[in-house]
Amino acid sequence: MKYIFVTGGVVSSLGKGLTAAALGTLLENRSLKVALQKFDPYLNVDPGTMSPTQHGEVYVLDDGAETDLDLGHYERFTSTKLTRRNSTSSGQVYQQVLDNERDGVYLGKTVQVIPHVTDEIQRRILQLATDSKADVVITEIGGTVGDIEGLPFLEAIREFALDVGPHNVCFIHVTYVPFIKAAGELKTKPTQQSVAKLREIGIAPHLLVCRCEQPLNKELRSKLSLFCNVPFEAVIEEKDVEHSIYEVPLMLQRERLDDLVCKHFQIEVPPAQMSHWQDIIRRLVAPQHRVRIGVVGKYTGLQDAYKSVHEALVHAGIANDCRVQIEPIDAEEVEKPDGQNLLKELGGILVPGGFGNRGIEGKIKAAKYARENKIPYLGLCLGMQIATIEFARHVLNMPDANSTEFNEQTPNPVIHLQETQRHIKRKGGSMRLGAQDSAIRGGTLAHKLYGVDCVSERHRHRYEFNNDYRSRFEAEGFVVSGTTPDNHLVEIIELRDHPFFVASQFHPEFQSKPTRPHPLFVGFITAAHERQHHIPLLAKLPTPLLTTPVPVGKD
Ligand code: GLN
Repeated sequence: MKYIFVTGGVVSSLGKGLTAAALGTLLENRSLKVALQKFDPYLNVDPGTMSPTQHGEVYVLDDGAETDLDLGHYERFTSTKLTRRNSTSSGQVYQQVLDNERDGVYLGKTVQVIPHVTDEIQRRILQLATDSKADVVITEIGGTVGDIEGLPFLEAIREFALDVGPHNVCFIHVTYVPFIKAAGELKTKPTQQSVAKLREIGIAPHLLVCRCEQPLNKELRSKLSLFCNVPFEAVIEEKDVEHSIYEVPLMLQRERLDDLVCKHFQIEVPPAQMSHWQDIIRRLVAPQHRVRIGVVGKYTGLQDAYKSVHEALVHAGIANDCRVQIEPIDAEEVEKPDGQNLLKELGGILVPGGFGNRGIEGKIKAAKYARENKIPYLGLCLGMQIATIEFARHVLNMPDANSTEFNEQTPNPVIHLQETQRHIKRKGGSMRLGAQDSAIRGGTLAHKLYGVDCVSERHRHRYEFNNDYRSRFEAEGFVVSGTTPDNHLVEIIELRDHPFFVASQFHPEFQSKPTRPHPLFVGFITAAHERQHHIPLLAKLPTPLLTTPVPVGKD
């Protein structure tokens, strides 16, 4: 068993997660089985209760774990299916240690960061290694070297390396080499200091992955090699990508990152076969078609808030050989009297998930505009609830229809709290979470897109479609095309007299990959392109791998 630890230096947001995921892609394509794991130094048990402004998107796994968005990268870049074992926060570590203490596990000893907290961290690395039976475990340590919260994790991996032996551990430090415009130079000092900080803790990195805007020249590489005590070839350049994050694996392959890792571990495996990945990049760089999609949400300035939604749109673009230009549209702006002007000239409108009152009326207006003007609409979780409220208000003549999330007193609660949620008081981890089956009704658009009768999709919500209203909706062309297998919870809805109006209570975006775009997104982009340019796309698709998606969650 081999272990790679990815740490970060100088500043946050360097894309450690992407680097770890891209390395995972390369190693998998060298026929190695990889497992990926993230350690987050914050004290929250998980990011489920954090605001998107603090944390970005909460990424949900099959088993219902609410995790960091880096786990989304891991799943999109590799074939691994993650579970809560793959995501650990300091909060979880401390919770476990304190539970152990209450259970008397420590036999009267003083409970301390070293060894009790560090042991618990190491236990989690070993547990993943054993459970996954992977050849290589890649563990990313969140935060930046020098943070107080990160210290127990760094100490734990230092000790871990001693235990499992030097050839079995590879420390990769992802660092920043800034370009100072005034001097016209790249600067190595921040990296030198960050590596010095790591070495103080007892960790000497084997490989440096240098994030930079300009290429590293030979001189600079020599300097980094000398001052940071790594071989010349172990200085890896990771320049800002030109087009897409999916270029990162190819870029790192050119820098021989995977070769160096295999050499370090003394494992002989064939080089990574990346032609399918190159095909993806070709479609991203020079697609034949274009489409504009409006994403009507409330965190428009925040790139990471709808990360998986954006990625899923890009993947559907890859399948359609189509560049998806994403227009973030502020729902509160749509609420204004001439707000619908923001929705003009779009191929499609997407309303993503969300919580709370702000911007709700703008989203309802966007759904109305899409329905009335026959613009393709994709609603995700809250986006389905919005479509339901809109339909009730304007088609079923219930102007006061609402979700009880936004108005508890509404006389027409077409969306209401699930029975199982009524008495829940605790906020953390208490929603309907994770993968659940949906039965897809034959003859519907959803069935045509999925091509199967049952799918497994990931959930994260408290409210649901109110079945008291189901027949009234269905009588007017609102089709319930997916439900839980017992027909109790509504999972997918669509409109009969519309080219593409589909919304799901689950989050399909969490299972979309560049190599396996999600059918609902592919259908949406196809319809949006047709709406914008009056050209059907599907007939032109060249690569069968990308055009016939496997039923989601069934592999
Ligand atoms: N706020 C809604 C609910 O809890 C929708 C949640 C979401 O979009 N993830 O049901």
